This record gives sequence, C-alpha cells and structure tokens, in this order.
Amino acid sequence: MNDRAALLAEIAELKTRHHAVILCHNYQPAEIFPVADYIGDSLELARKAAETDSELIVFCGVRFMAETAKLLSPRARVILPAPAAGCQMADMVSAEALRARREELGDVAAVAYVNTTAAVKAESDICCTSANAVRVVESLPPDRPVLFVPDRNLARWVAHESGRAIIPWEGFCYVHALFTVADVARARREHPGVPVACHPECPLEVLEAADHVASTGGMYRLAREHAELVLGTEVGMCDRIRFDFPENRCWPLRRTAVCRNMKLTTLELVRDALASRVEEVTVPEPVAGRARAAIERMLAAS
Ligand code: SF4
Repeated sequence: MNDRAALLAEIAELKTRHHAVILCHNYQPAEIFPVADYIGDSLELARKAAETDSELIVFCGVRFMAETAKLLSPRARVILPAPAAGCQMADMVSAEALRARREELGDVAAVAYVNTTAAVKAESDICCTSANAVRVVESLPPDRPVLFVPDRNLARWVAHESGRAIIPWEGFCYVHALFTVADVARARREHPGVPVACHPECPLEVLEAADHVASTGGMYRLAREHAELVLGTEVGMCDRIRFDFPENRCWPLRRTAVCRNMKLTTLELVRDALASRVEEVTVPEPVAGRARAAIERMLAAS
C-alpha cells in the first residue's frame, strides 16, 4: 500500500470509529473529494448538516460554513481541519457595524449572505445563499427595504432579478471580483460554442455577458447537460466537475481565481482532525439561537 492509499484507509477507519461525517465544499482541493460523504455548495451542505445524526462533523471548507453546520446540528462536534481557513468577504462586515447601519436606516429587512459570521447572522432577519438569494428576497414583504450584507455583487444581481430596491453592503469576494467582461470575450474566442456560467458573486456586467448565472450547485447541475463548460468561479469547481464527470471538459474563466483559504485543507489535516477531535467549532448562546433562527427562516423560504 502506498502512502496515499494508507492515508485514505486511515481516514476511512477513523471515520467509522467516531461515527463521523465529512462535508466538503466544492472549492476544496481535489484530493479531499474521495474521503467526503457529501460534496456541495453552501445550501446543500447546510441541509446535510441539519439532517445528519452523526456525532462528529468534519467540515472541509471555511469557518463560516463550519459555524453554520454547528448551528444546524448543535449536538454534533464540528471540526474545521484547517482552523485558520476564514473568508475575507465574511470579515468585511461585523455585528457592531451591521447594528449601527440598521439603526441609521430605520425599518429594513437585513438579509445576510451565508458567507458571514454567526454574530452577523444573529443581527439579521434572514440568511440566503447564492443558490436561493433571489427567492429569499422575494419572500420578504414588498414594502420593506432590504439591506443586503456583505456581498455588493450578489446584492446587485438579486436587485436585477427580483426588481426589489436593495441597499448593498460594500463587501466583495476578492476571487470573484477579478472577473471581467474581457475574460468572457476571451473564453468565447478560445472555446467557441461552449457555454459560460458565472457565479453571482461576479460583477453584474460579467453576469450579463455570461450564458448562465449559477451557484456552484447550479454549475454542477449544468455539467449534467453540457459536456463542455467555462466556469466563472473559483478554479476548484472545474476539479469538482471532473471528479464526477471525468469525460467532461471544463475551463476556468481565469486560472488565477484561487481562494487561498479554501486550499488550506489537506488529507493529513483531515486525518488529524478525526484522530484528535480537538479545535471544535463552537457558537455561544444567545448568538447561536438568533443565528439559527435566521438560517431556519432561509431553509423554510427556499
Ligand atoms: S471564494 Fe470568496 S467568498 Fe468563498 S470563501 Fe473564498 S474569499 Fe470567501
């Protein structure tokens, strides 16, 4: 048995011994996919966390995702194998800043993208993911202005699709903010006839130039219908598609669109997380209860 096979066997044995489930985001390094029980986007993984009866969740992703899993499965121990994996966009809004802005604006409905800390979710009326953001905003009373945190690009896309007036927070994802209309034009020259799908965290003009606007879960579904795709999102999404559809061809819209935090997880860290079960992710009360309520309102609305 080579080193990698031995490591995979060790992870499988530890997983069984500790009744663990491994949840993995689509942007994780490709070496993690074979050990995952579920691979998906934020919404799909939130649903899996709510359903699981496992005692231990090893969350291969970034911190806000592990916090969401803990909120939805409070009895489970939740471990983030790479404890330093944060999200720069999530760090662009704090609970204090959101509270102050709400006071300034008066009666608004605060919608928190799931890419936020539990403390920010606790200050919000409802959460959303990129897969359900339009539906969530459309579920709110039409006469109440919407304050959307923290992604200004997703906020603009939702306003465009729903026709609702939205006050955006000025946050952004540094990976998706890289994309330009010129990238889409170049992809069309290099891969004529291949559909271009972009994530709603991209700037609005890029989304308007694309053939499809989709969350990573939506891109996965597109890969069932299209054997070739150009994807305007984190580069790892192409690995994710090749993992389940090895015959497909997939090109990133930009090779430099890499989320450094998503790439911190390694198989060794997954093994260590299962073996030591330390570095547990916790969310204290009363923040946990209020944040959970905002996520549960999202799950009910979508
Ligand atoms: S891709 Fe962007 S939004 Fe997603 S974790 Fe990385 S920095 Fe955050």
